[in-house]
Amino acid sequence: MDELKLLIDMHKDANRQGPGSDAETEKAISMAGLDRNTPLNIADIGCGTGASTLTLARLLNAKITAVDFLQDFIDVLSARARDEGVEDKINPLCASMEQLPFENETFDVIWSEGAIYNLGFEKGIADWKRYLKPGGLLVVSEITWLTSSRPLALQDYWDNEYPETDTASAKIALLEDSGYTPIGYFALPEHCWLDHYYDPMRKSFDAFLSRNGDSAEAQAIVEAERHEMALYEKYKAYFSYGVYIARKTDAQNS
Ligand code: SAM
Repeated sequence: MDELKLLIDMHKDANRQGPGSDAETEKAISMAGLDRNTPLNIADIGCGTGASTLTLARLLNAKITAVDFLQDFIDVLSARARDEGVEDKINPLCASMEQLPFENETFDVIWSEGAIYNLGFEKGIADWKRYLKPGGLLVVSEITWLTSSRPLALQDYWDNEYPETDTASAKIALLEDSGYTPIGYFALPEHCWLDHYYDPMRKSFDAFLSRNGDSAEAQAIVEAERHEMALYEKYKAYFSYGVYIARKTDAQNS
């Protein structure tokens, strides 16, 4: 089985595919000042199996286009939306975030948890801005350094995994330079990594390995995840996901 199929198999039964929690999604909704009654058109990009999409659907009077390039994840999201009775609020879309089939100025809000790194933060915020209505809101989470310096081993790991890893002040400056007005930031607390992401994943390892015949490829995936978890445990004072909330700057639209 190729690596992508194994990764899908590892993650598709999970509530979420990256750190976060319903409470932090709700906190971002509040910081963004989203009114719960106003009709909103939202895109949730890199939605995975829909953790944030379902929270947005539960809490807002919104139509949410939930985008992921993996049909398996979209199928799980659609089933969960039906189970929760919110399928009318969700438009599931299998598409790449690199080529989104949207008209300019379509959305009131673009939401993306733990996914913009696939495009790169700088490119993502620049590319997606055109899909926001004037004054529309961007809410994205992104790996962020919590301190101005950090141990070399950690720096090396993230330089290799994602060279755009940077401090919140650097990310906020990028938002300003790209035509957004930053209006909020917070770092995801530890429970978002452990209780809502790593612990459920760790519990799924045995079944994953046995489903996949304990193959060397499956073992390598488990090992890589264990390595990432150990790194988080050791260095969690230095990095987390940051959640960035910014408004498309009206001045740039004229
Ligand atoms: N937002 C979800 C969450 O927090 O649970 C998923 C986060 S997961 C770390 C990143 C997601 O981005 C995955 O679901 C993956 O399939 C999706 N993804 C990766 N590259 C993509 C691309 N080029 N276009 C659309 N989705 C992509």
